[in-house]
Amino acid sequence: AAASRGPGSVEAFGPGLRDGLAARMGTAVDLAEALAKEGELFLSYQPVFDLEHDTIVGAEALVRWRHPQRGVVSPADFIPVAEQTGLIADLGCWVLDAAVSQLSQWQRLVGTGFRLHVNLSPLEMRQPRLVAQVVDALDRHGVPAEQLLLEITETGLMTADDGSVPRLEELREIGVALGIDDFGTGYSSISYLRELPVDMVKLDRSLTSLVAASPDEYALTRAIFGLMRSSGLEIVAEGIEEHVQVAHLRAIRCRYGQGYLLARPAGPEVVAALLARRGQGSRPSGM
Ligand code: C2E
Ligand code: MG
Ligand code: MG
Ligand code: MG
Repeated sequence: AAASRGPGSVEAFGPGLRDGLAARMGTAVDLAEALAKEGELFLSYQPVFDLEHDTIVGAEALVRWRHPQRGVVSPADFIPVAEQTGLIADLGCWVLDAAVSQLSQWQRLVGTGFRLHVNLSPLEMRQPRLVAQVVDALDRHGVPAEQLLLEITETGLMTADDGSVPRLEELREIGVALGIDDFGTGYSSISYLRELPVDMVKLDRSLTSLVAASPDEYALTRAIFGLMRSSGLEIVAEGIEEHVQVAHLRAIRCRYGQGYLLARPAGPEVVAALLARRGQGSRPSGM
């Protein structure tokens, strides 16, 4: 309630803040416990579609936490706490291993063009051991690096330290694909994007609805997308909720998309059934 009154109000510095702190500390303690146990943390997977061919080209792993008292907690609530407390290092490691393990189990269902997207916190990108951890997970589960795509948010990239970009380049050299998540929420220019070692740009949900809702802007977005494509960047629109958005996105040649309309995040068995039924496409070579 205090927070809703805005950061400038006196209330924000009263009991509300203390409650907030206590709640975050409680979350941190419980999360540390969850990481040491089996079963509380799990991954949901949301398919990525080729809008042109109506096939599945990948899936994004999204972490979930089934708290014994609180029920399923949203990552929007516990990822920030994990980042503030340093638990993100262990959590990131757990997510990577669980995702790559799932990918190895999906091998007979997917082609080589299928990619599993894993979200990377900016703090993980700053860790020198990131590359070794990724290589280790791929080796242990016998999965080709080409099937893994790491998503880093646009704002996260803006906080990259000196070591981050070379680290990302190293990952890309071993074959791991990289993508920018939530594009449109920061202030990156297209020329800056082209300098980064990335393969994919994912439009934030807010940008997806904007782009898909304003046909007047087609000329501009078409030009921007053309520029991105000419640099070899794949464009994925996130948060597609309406049929008309798909039509508009196709019209401006945004080839890939994700959203509740197409498929909600779900358990691995649901995605497997979808893969078996829908079939999956592969990206054109070099993409
Ligand atoms: P994100 O990576 O941008 O993921 C997209 C979020 O939008 C997901 O929320 C997904 O469930 C939701 N979404 C997908 N389609 C739609 C749609 O059509 N409409 C709407 N309204 N929402 C849609 P989720 O799973 O709650 O994750 C929230 C954020 O938490 C993620 O945003 C990501 O930043 C972070 N996150 C999730 N899993 C991980 C993880 O394993 N590691 C890290 N570092 N961050 C994670
Ligand atoms: Mg993401
Ligand atoms: Mg996103
Ligand atoms: Mg987003």
